[in-house]
Amino acid sequence: MQETIDRIRKFRDERDWLQFHNPKNLAVSISIEAAELLELFQWKSAEESARHAEENREKVSDEMADVAIYLLELADVLGIDLAQAIDAKLVKNAAKYPVEKSKGRSTKYTDL
Ligand SMILES: [Mg+2]
Repeated sequence: MQETIDRIRKFRDERDWLQFHNPKNLAVSISIEAAELLELFQWKSAEESARHAEENREKVSDEMADVAIYLLELADVLGIDLAQAIDAKLVKNAAKYPVEKSKGRSTKYTDL
């Protein structure tokens, strides 16, 4: 993970883009790239979206990478260890969604 963050920093700093990469702009960019990922599946059924992802693997992969790059950079700018944050959030999610109440169900935790 750190090597990837270092490559993202190098890419950004070679272009002198840190001046534009404040937390707000990075959060906006995550959302825009997530929307580009969503656009690949717009109007498709669940079955069509699975097939489309297989047939357009590079496009899907590129948009996923765009989201991840901005997310990793936001975490880096804010000094958040993303792996630690994920671990901590999984613990919270496990408390919100106990297996015995949520297994096989898509119900939101507030309605379990
Ligand atoms: Mg993109």
